[in-house]
Amino acid sequence: MKHRFRKDDFSWEGIASAGYKATGERDGEGFRGVTRHIISGTEGEPSRFQMRYFEVDAEGFTRLERHEHIHSVTVIRGSGYAIVGDEVHALEHLDHVYVPPMTLHQFVNTGATPFGFLCIVDAQRDRPQPASADDVARLERNAATAGKARR
Ligand code: MN
Repeated sequence: MKHRFRKDDFSWEGIASAGYKATGERDGEGFRGVTRHIISGTEGEPSRFQMRYFEVDAEGFTRLERHEHIHSVTVIRGSGYAIVGDEVHALEHLDHVYVPPMTLHQFVNTGATPFGFLCIVDAQRDRPQPASADDVARLERNAATAGKARR
């Protein structure tokens, strides 16, 4: 089965987009301007992974969180950065980022255009844990991540 890519609005035929709110979250509660497309893994495929596409609007960011499952992320649109543990990685077209288990992470758009990335996850996965105030304080004390986290 093919899902044709639509260049005009950066989407795939037959694949709907949804905000984080589709998972019970609300814009402004730790993230901003994020939409999600589930490309593969929820239509009965015999797989143990899902492939999603996330798009972060200009000035937007994903939630600062951690969990046991990993992320395998490949940027396909725009530019931004990722906080991963105690490091910050500048990201552009086709860069890849691995987010290990229980590692604090956040994706932030730094451009004037949408920042989009494919994200592969386990189909069966634990619930993300939002960063605590202590987590944020630790990021602010660390030179590499100071001033980078968004809430
Ligand atoms: Mn995550």
